[in-house]
Amino acid sequence: MALIVQKYGGSSVADAEKIKNVARRVAESATAHQLVVVVSAMGKTTDGLVGLASRITPTPEPREMDMLLATGEQVTIALLAMALHTLGLKARSLTGPQVGLRTDRAHTKARITRITPERARAALEAGEIVIVAGFQGLSDADELTTLGRGGSDLTAVALAAALKADVCEIYTDVDGVYTADPNIVPDARKLPRVAYDEMLEMASLGAKVLQARSVEFAKKYGVAVHVRSTFKRDPGTLVTREESGMEEVVVTGITHDRSQAKISLLRVPDRPGIAAQVFGAVATKNVVVDMIVQNISRDGFTDISFTVPRGDHVRAQTALEEIGRTVGAEKVVHDERVAKVSIVGVGMRSHSGVAARMFAALSKEGINIQMISTSEIAVSCVIEDKYAELAVRSLHDTFELGREP
Ligand code: ADP
Ligand code: ASP
Ligand code: MG
Repeated sequence: MALIVQKYGGSSVADAEKIKNVARRVAESATAHQLVVVVSAMGKTTDGLVGLASRITPTPEPREMDMLLATGEQVTIALLAMALHTLGLKARSLTGPQVGLRTDRAHTKARITRITPERARAALEAGEIVIVAGFQGLSDADELTTLGRGGSDLTAVALAAALKADVCEIYTDVDGVYTADPNIVPDARKLPRVAYDEMLEMASLGAKVLQARSVEFAKKYGVAVHVRSTFKRDPGTLVTREESGMEEVVVTGITHDRSQAKISLLRVPDRPGIAAQVFGAVATKNVVVDMIVQNISRDGFTDISFTVPRGDHVRAQTALEEIGRTVGAEKVVHDERVAKVSIVGVGMRSHSGVAARMFAALSKEGINIQMISTSEIAVSCVIEDKYAELAVRSLHDTFELGREP
């Protein structure tokens, strides 16, 4: 009998009725398959918990943050198990620690170190449906950890790899991966297939339909991922290895990310070792830096700007203010009203002039580009946040990604 790992996201389990709906879908699949079902916290529960913490302190201890965040998923596993019991099915809920998901000690963004899914295997052998709390694990210090926002996707993919499942199905509120966020671009097109690298880039650049690390994991272990709708039956998007023909399209998708903040260190002395000191200080606070721009130096001074996740900017700024004083910088300023828009496609490897077309499209809308970064298969621009949606729509048109008439 095939083994399937299914994952249902927050909006799919947002209330009691929706949990019953998921139970019915699970019951249908259970007639012909062994099933592991990973669930997220209900609706916007995790956002609510983050907000609650921020009303207590702007800098909660990451360990306590994980204690708080891990509660969300635990509610859903119990309720879904109950819903399956009422349908006469055997089901057992397991937390991240119970399913043997072990992580490092990086609270709130822990990485999976190993999975020992013996309990899940035994339950499957006993004919039970295994319901797993996504997003959480246990560190080697025996502490609860969480895997970063959107981390239930990673739990699902990692369990699929560990259990050698036939497929990992990600059920969500859209019926697949689109050429752009379908909630912003009405004529976005569903992609029947997308290559791991492309999906990884889209996810890293803001297409939150899959968590980036889950795609990385899927690629590494060759897990077949199928993104599809909780509410509709149509086939969704298969995330798989690159196939010939995929490169014929230059740009596959447009993404945007409004979760970053820009920090600038003004009038820093321009001499060897300064960048190492500045970014070393940020790294010790466990903050991941994304784009970096350093200006041309004038009279021995320069400005350095970079982007960080919005939730980390207070910590980054504190670190920078200290180091800024040490190295003799004038001041540190931050700007949360920025967004990153990107074009992604494996076809870019073999086409030139793609970036120029992107810049021209933004300029036509009167949108100023503050930062640029490129990779082999993506170009990203940081722009003012208020133009994010306009930029995405205009790029979607420019690269002719809309539905065929
Ligand atoms: P879940 O709660 O199921 O994990 P998410 O909210 O994390 O769902 O992800 C689904 C959302 O991702 C969609 O509602 C959609 O707005 C957004 N999204 C962004 N970019 C894309 C894209 N390219 N294709 C599909 N959905 C996208
Ligand atoms: N509940 C967590 C979050 O909202 C994990 C997830 O839904 O994937 O980020
Ligand atoms: Mg998600």
